[in-house]
Order: sequence, then C-alpha cells, then structure tokens
Amino acid sequence: MKVSVVVPCYNEELSVERFYREATAVFSGQAFDYELIFVDDGSSDNTFLKLDELAKADAKVKVLSFSRNFGQQAAIICGFRASTGDAVVEMDCDLQDPVEVVLEMVKRFEEGFEVVHGRRLSRKGESRFKKSTAKAYYKFLNKITTSKIPQNTGDFKLLSRRVCDIICELSEKGKYLRGLESWVGFKQTFVDFERHARQEGETKYTLKKMVRLAKDGVISFSEWPLTLSIKFGIGFSALSVIAAIVLAVLNICGVYTHPLYYLFPFNGLIGGLLMVFKGISDMYLHKTYEQVKARPEYVIDKKINL
Ligand code: UDP
Ligand code: MG
Repeated sequence: MKVSVVVPCYNEELSVERFYREATAVFSGQAFDYELIFVDDGSSDNTFLKLDELAKADAKVKVLSFSRNFGQQAAIICGFRASTGDAVVEMDCDLQDPVEVVLEMVKRFEEGFEVVHGRRLSRKGESRFKKSTAKAYYKFLNKITTSKIPQNTGDFKLLSRRVCDIICELSEKGKYLRGLESWVGFKQTFVDFERHARQEGETKYTLKKMVRLAKDGVISFSEWPLTLSIKFGIGFSALSVIAAIVLAVLNICGVYTHPLYYLFPFNGLIGGLLMVFKGISDMYLHKTYEQVKARPEYVIDKKINL
C-alpha cells in the first residue's frame, strides 16, 4: 500500500522544508509506503531551489514546477496526475492542516471509503472576514447547486486511486476540485480536525484568487444565475403592466401624472439589471470558450525524481 501526498506550493520557501520534516517524521514510521509530490506553482522566490535540495537528498520527494503561476487547483491536478499511490492526499504546505490527520484518513480509506474529507472544527489565525464569507458562500453554493459541497472542508482530502483517476480524466477546464470530489460519488466520509494558523509566511490566496475560485464554484456547478434573468424579466414586465394600469386609472380619475415620472427610475433599474444578467451569461460564455480553446490547465517547466 502506498500513499501519495500532493502539495501545491507558491512562494513557500519558508514552509517547504518544515513541511518535509514533519511529513517525513510522521510517515517514515508507518506500515505503508509514501511519496511526497511538491508542485511549485511558478514561485518567484527560492521554493524550487529548496525543493531541488530536498529531492536530491530523498528519492521520496518528487517535484514538478510550472512555467508560471497557474493556481492551486491546477497544481493539485498536476500532482494527482504524477501520483502513483493507492490513495492520494492533497494538502497545503503551510502546515495549517496537521500531517497526523492523514493517518486517520488512511484508516478510513482502509475501511473502504474512497473520498475522505478533512473537516475543520476550528480555523485558527484566519480573519473574521475570511471565515464569515466562506461560511456564507458555501451556504449559498449549496442552495443553488445540485451536487452538495460539504461545509467546513477545503483542499485537504484523501482520494482513492480510481477517484483520483476519474477526476484527472475529466476534460473540463478550471476544475473546482471541492465540487468535483463530492460530485464523483462513491463512499465518502469525514475526519474532523482543528486547523492551525499558518506556520510561516503570509497567505498566498489574495482576494482576487479567492473571488476567482468562488466564481469557478458557482459557474461550474449551477445554472441558477442564468435563470435569474428570466425571473426578473417576468417580474418587471408584470410591474410595467401594473404601473401602466395605475397611470391609466389615475388619469381617468382626473389626477394629472406625467408618464415620464415613472419612466426614469424604471428604465434605469432595468438597464442596470440587464447589464448584470449580460455579465452572468458572459461568465458562462467565457467558461464555454475556455473549453473550446482546450488549452492545457498548466505548463510544466521541470520535473525531479519523476
Ligand atoms: N497556492 C498555490 N498557488 C497559488 C496560491 C496558493 O499553489 O496561486 C498554494 C499555497 O502555497 C498553499 C496552498 O495553495 O500550499 C493554500 O494557500 P494558502 O495557505 O495561502 O491559502 P489559505 O490557507 O490562506 O486559504
Ligand atoms: Mg493556508
């Protein structure tokens, strides 16, 4: 039995060595074999040099590096494709997700579960803004999607070989892994853990990256935003008819009302909403365009021990 641990790294020169040491301390005494697959997502610091040193000293360390920053999801998928284990774990390299929890996940895997989600009981060192927006977002996402995405889980999971292969073979671009890992089905379970604060450096998830990931989640898993335009269209048409009737009645009763009074705010609102709905359809159109272009999700620059 072999476990592959896939670790995306972006400007993590302060964390990779520490992660390596902790992971090696935990896994080297276990009955199963393991490999640590680090994917350097186009770091501009010394992450690759550090990984190169680790890989030269230990053949269990495998390294892939991207030609530029393609994002955490792409890095994880690249690591999945390079993995050879019977079970594949994805986890961050900042040690927010404790390495020992992987042992618990492996136990669940041996009991027959094919997807084991790490579920955070608490999230230390993260801003109130991040925690509350994440909570509201997953509530919203689960309301509008058909395939349920479990609350308080992130990119810390164990997948069986076949689940990992199924996800790698999906041809869709901009994969939203948290959604796909639930969508895929099979026997799934949870392992609860306390999420630590980041050990070294700052978060690599800028607000822009978080918004992009959130958008990918909605666009990949829901058609609900597209139906809004029809609902609002029907609503506003009905309102227009009512407004016209009200105006007519007022005029019949002898109350003078200039029709333009009603037209300005009404038109402004409808114009604004039309732009919003056009924007929503454009996001789906863009996603479709990405699939048609069929560019790869990442470009590999270097490989070590692979
Ligand atoms: N990461 C990445 N590419 C990116 C941003 C982040 O590979 O463009 C990696 C990062 O190095 C870390 C993991 O993804 O191992 C999660 O990022 P981070 O810890 O900064 O996110 P947070 O935990 O703050 O949400
Ligand atoms: Mg983190």
